[in-house]
Amino acid sequence: MKRIFLTAALIINAILSDCQTANTVHHVLNVDVNPETAEMFVTDTISGFATDNLVFRLNKAFKVESKSPGVSVKLVSDNSKAGDIGMDRESENEGVVLSKWKVSGNANSVVISYEGKLDAEIEQSKENYQRGFSQSPGIISDNGVYLAGSTWWVPVFENSLMSFKLTTVLPADWKNVSQGERTLDRFFDGKHIDTWVCNSPQEEVFLIAAAFNEYSYDMNSGVKAMAFLRTPDEGLANKYLEVTEQYMDMYQGMIGDYPYSKFALVENFWETGYGMPSFTLLGEKIIRFPFILHSSYPHELLHNWWGNSVYVDFDSGNWCEGLTAFMADHLIKEQRGAGEEYRRSTLQKFSNMVNTENDFPLSKFLSRHDGASEAIGYGKSLMMWQMLRRKIGDDKFVEGLALFYKNNKFKSASFDDIRIAMEEVSGVGL
Ligand SMILES: [Zn+2]
Repeated sequence: MKRIFLTAALIINAILSDCQTANTVHHVLNVDVNPETAEMFVTDTISGFATDNLVFRLNKAFKVESKSPGVSVKLVSDNSKAGDIGMDRESENEGVVLSKWKVSGNANSVVISYEGKLDAEIEQSKENYQRGFSQSPGIISDNGVYLAGSTWWVPVFENSLMSFKLTTVLPADWKNVSQGERTLDRFFDGKHIDTWVCNSPQEEVFLIAAAFNEYSYDMNSGVKAMAFLRTPDEGLANKYLEVTEQYMDMYQGMIGDYPYSKFALVENFWETGYGMPSFTLLGEKIIRFPFILHSSYPHELLHNWWGNSVYVDFDSGNWCEGLTAFMADHLIKEQRGAGEEYRRSTLQKFSNMVNTENDFPLSKFLSRHDGASEAIGYGKSLMMWQMLRRKIGDDKFVEGLALFYKNNKFKSASFDDIRIAMEEVSGVGL
C-alpha cells in the first residue's frame, strides 16, 4: 500500500514541476463584506502550500486565528513593507504594512479566519493606464469595494501562485466580480451571495464589488462576454459586448484559445484603466469615450494572453506592454490604414522624451512611471516587434507568438522565451 501511495505522490510531483514554475496554493475564501463599516470577515481554507514554506504574509489590518484543531498560526513579525517583496514589482503602493504568520502543526491544509477594516483613501494616479496592481491599497466603502494583490487581503506564500474559490456575501443589490467563472449568484436572507472559481494559477485575487447592473452575451467561441455598469445603460453595454466578440475572435485566431471562460467590462468608481485576468476595470468617464472601444479596451483584452496568463519574468524585463501595444493599439491602427502614422508618432514621442542620459535597454523596463519610461517600455519595444516581424515575415511572426503562448501559458516568461519560439518557427538565428 505504501509504495503505491509513494508512486502516486511522485507522479503528482513530477506533473506539478513539469507544468508549473511556481507552487500553486489553493484558497477557499468565504468573505462577508460590510460596505457601511468598511469591515470584512474572512475564512480561508488553504491547501497546497509546501511543507518547507509555512510562512505567509497578510495586511497588518487583519488578526489571524487558526480554526484547524492541532494547527497553530503564530505572528512572526508585523512590520514588513509591501515594497520590500519581490513579487509586487509593479506596485507603487509600497506603504501597506504586512504581518508575517507561521503555520505550525502537521497539516496539509489549514483553516484560518481573519477580520479587519479597510478604509484607506484612493489616491488618483497621474498615470491612469497601468496593468494590474493599483495605487489603492484596497478600499471598502459605500461607493464600492476594491481588493487586489496590492491590498494583501489573501495570505501570500513566497514563490507561489494561487488558485481560488471565492464566495462573497454583500448587501442585496450588490455583486462581486473576480477572476475566472461565476458558479453561484443568488439572494439569501436579505443578502446577495456569489461564488467565483479560478483554477488557473494567479498572481493575486481580486474582489471588486458594487451595486452593479449586469449584462452578458454568450459568444460563439464559448466564452461569455459580460458588462457590469454602475448605472443602467443597455446601449453602452451592448457596444462593449459586441466588440468583445470581434476582438476575441481576432486574438484567438492569431494566438490561441483565450485562457479564461469570461471577459468582463467592469465600471470602477474612480478613473482607472486596469487589465485584470478575465476582466478590465475602467473608470466612469473612460468607458464613455467612443475611441476606447478600439484602443484601451482591446489592449486590456489582449493582456489576458500577455501578462495575465503568460506572466512576466521581471528579472529580464517586462516584454508584455510593448507586445500588447504592438498587437492592439498599433495593429488596430494598421488595419485602418494608419500604421505608419502610428509608428511615426511613437518615434516622435521617443525622440522628445528620451536622450542618452535617460535611455535604458528593454531588459531593464519594469513599468512606466514617466514619459521616458513609457517611450521605452511601450514605444521602443513596439518598434522592436515591428523589426522582428519584418525580419521573419508576418506568418512566422504570428506562428512564433502562438508557440510562445502554448509553451508559457500560466508560467513566467522572458524575452528569451519569445526568441526561442521565434527561432523555432522561422529557423532564423536571433
Ligand atoms: Zn498594457
